[in-house]
Amino acid sequence: MIIDCIIIGGGIAGLQAAIQLGRYAAHHVLVIDAGDGRSAICRSYRNLLGYPDGVSGMELREAGMRQLAAYGIDVIHDTIIEATRTADGHFLLRGSGDTSSSSATTYTARTLLIATGVMDRFTDYPGLRPCLGLTVYVCPDCDGYEVKDRRTVVLGAGDVGAKMALTLRAWTDKLVYIDQGDADGDVAPELHARLREQLEAAGIRRVQATVNAVTADTRTGEFQGVQLADGTVVEAERAFLAYGGNEVRSQLARQLGASLHENGHIWTDPRSKMTSVPGVWAAGDVAVHAEQVSIAMGEGAQAAIWIHKLLLDPQTVIPTYSPHAP
Ligand SMILES: Cc1cc2nc3c(=O)[nH]c(=O)nc-3n(C[C@H](O)[C@H](O)[C@H](O)COP(=O)(O)OP(=O)(O)OC[C@H]3O[C@@H](n4cnc5c(N)ncnc54)[C@H](O)[C@@H]3O)c2cc1C
Repeated sequence: MIIDCIIIGGGIAGLQAAIQLGRYAAHHVLVIDAGDGRSAICRSYRNLLGYPDGVSGMELREAGMRQLAAYGIDVIHDTIIEATRTADGHFLLRGSGDTSSSSATTYTARTLLIATGVMDRFTDYPGLRPCLGLTVYVCPDCDGYEVKDRRTVVLGAGDVGAKMALTLRAWTDKLVYIDQGDADGDVAPELHARLREQLEAAGIRRVQATVNAVTADTRTGEFQGVQLADGTVVEAERAFLAYGGNEVRSQLARQLGASLHENGHIWTDPRSKMTSVPGVWAAGDVAVHAEQVSIAMGEGAQAAIWIHKLLLDPQTVIPTYSPHAP
């Protein structure tokens, strides 16, 4: 069976796109989702219109799934591991089949929307996850406001963590940057000299240390501080994670030959959200590049509108991202 549109990723962008496509009541749409993702771990978004007290990623996802059911759109729990183009111009996807069956599954589609997101790199200390989005954050544009005048630690590495600490200085002067060093967390790299000077000028203390444990009330998601390898306890009310090296989940776009930004995000046309590969769209965090819920929703809806146009009339000229455009 050839499906009109397969949406890979049932997070914020993918679900919003599916709702929009479902409302045309004209296409066979399938969402395939691996079940993790940033929206699955963030316990509160507070910068969204209509949610002054916050809403969790799982609440939004569950509400989206209920909306989809009304349009008869199925969501399959699977991880797509390979995407290729067939001789007749369709897209063949191979899933790991890791849920309902033990064997790999294949799916064929006329169009694709890649909405696979990004996954942050952080050490999964016991107690940290219940705080994510409530008192521990990753994005200053989203949550800088939440640390206003509060004792805050930046748990990070090298220049990335230093830049985060400097950005947060706009909201609080009660900042400690705990620099855990390189990806292995055991060698503290030298900071760029200019950043070191800027930290000093901003009065931000940088501690080069390994974090042994996080203390938190896991019931309420209240972060309380960290314990360092030498036993020192650094108390804080809020934390930001800034290690760099986040995983941009654009492998499928790469396999299909889509143009990627140097940091791995997928280029799309600003109007249609189609990638450089005709018939393949991208939306949300995996695209270039704002990493916010409202933007993921907007991109998902925008992509769906143009996918609908192409499905209605395959001759439609869709604005396409071109690496050679001026
Ligand atoms: C701690 C934290 C706090 C945040 N706070 C805010 C905030 O306050 N405000 C805000 O606007 N944003 C915030 N964000 C960012 C926000 O969560 C993301 O911008 C949003 O989730 C992006 O939606 P998305 O659909 O692009 O990706 P996601 O929500 O990550 O969804 C991607 C989906 O794709 C699936 N997937 C990936 N690869 C595959 C594959 N190969 N096959 C099948 N499925 C796949 C994943 O399982 C996942 O379900 C926060 C993020 C984090 C981690």
